[in-house]
Amino acid sequence: MIPAITLNNGAEMPILGLGTWRSDPGKVTEAVKEALACGYRHIDGAYLYENEEEVGAGVQAMIDQGVVKRKDVFIVSKLWCTFHVPSMVRGACEKTLADLKMDYLDLYLMHFPMGMKPGDDPFPLDEEGYAIPDDSNFLDTWEEMEKLVDAGLVKAIGVSNFNKDQIEAILNKPGLKYKPVNNQIECHPYLTQEKLINYCHSKGISVTSYGPLGSPDRPWASSDQPSLLEEPTIKAIAKKYNKTPGQILLRFHSQRNVIVIPKSVTPHRIKENFQLFDFEISQDDMTTMLSLNKNWRAFDMKWGSKHKDFPLNTEF
Ligand code: NDP
Repeated sequence: MIPAITLNNGAEMPILGLGTWRSDPGKVTEAVKEALACGYRHIDGAYLYENEEEVGAGVQAMIDQGVVKRKDVFIVSKLWCTFHVPSMVRGACEKTLADLKMDYLDLYLMHFPMGMKPGDDPFPLDEEGYAIPDDSNFLDTWEEMEKLVDAGLVKAIGVSNFNKDQIEAILNKPGLKYKPVNNQIECHPYLTQEKLINYCHSKGISVTSYGPLGSPDRPWASSDQPSLLEEPTIKAIAKKYNKTPGQILLRFHSQRNVIVIPKSVTPHRIKENFQLFDFEISQDDMTTMLSLNKNWRAFDMKWGSKHKDFPLNTEF
């Protein structure tokens, strides 16, 4: 059994899940099956990843084989930015459910606080490469997401890539019905996010780390950027515990009560990333890992930097 975090709606969210961004549709069904077979019970997906049908097929195959029941798997998806206009929110969620062939999600996140121009292009950018905004306000979008809970389409709602002020704006919204249960953010030893994590936890909001291995497969990676998997300090700690650098980078989060969602479509890595609960990193080594922080982001979201709701222009 994987340890779980109790959310502020009372649900249990497994502390480890399988990420699916850039998981090839031709490979992700097998990856999901492999993950469920070795014990994962949490899958992180999104409309934007363009593979929800194949993710759903993997879950369904394991339900058909009697390996899991739907209620035992925690399924996460995300509302994409071009569906923030309130009248579009329900349809976007229904599209995800239809693709997954599921009748509910365990958690639906607002992928970014930034609404973008609706239309066929999922990434509408201007000539300079900056996001073309819509005229929505994320508080109105949130209100529509609350209705998805009441309609039974989703069990819980949360946010992703929100800063403290943006979360505070939701918490202070007049007539708020449901608090976010989770904020999914980039987090790893080069971006330790101490202030934002402490803030979220103080408000009863759980945190999920994305890009926990430094997202080495991100298309914009360049050789002058740091590599967490190659970081000498991480390699030394891995050697000491007889674990891989990946396992050290992932275990780091569960010891901070942070949920982690490594992506892999490689069977031996899917298994490796699951072997996190038979050892403990000492307090001293955790402190050493935290001291690697340099506020470096694999995801700088430059495309959003002119948007009124760009989340990265405050301290945290
Ligand atoms: P990760 O940090 O999880 O890195 C994934 C990459 O690392 C893949 O190329 C994978 O290769 C490789 N890998 C996996 N395990 C190991 C290992 N043990 N040793 C060495 N390499 C390994 O990056 P992601 O950006 O994918 O983040 C994880 C998940 O977080 C995403 O898949 C997505 O679900 C979510 N996410 C959410 C975002 C948001 O805005 N909310 C933004 C980005 C991600 P391979 O598959 O070939 O094995």
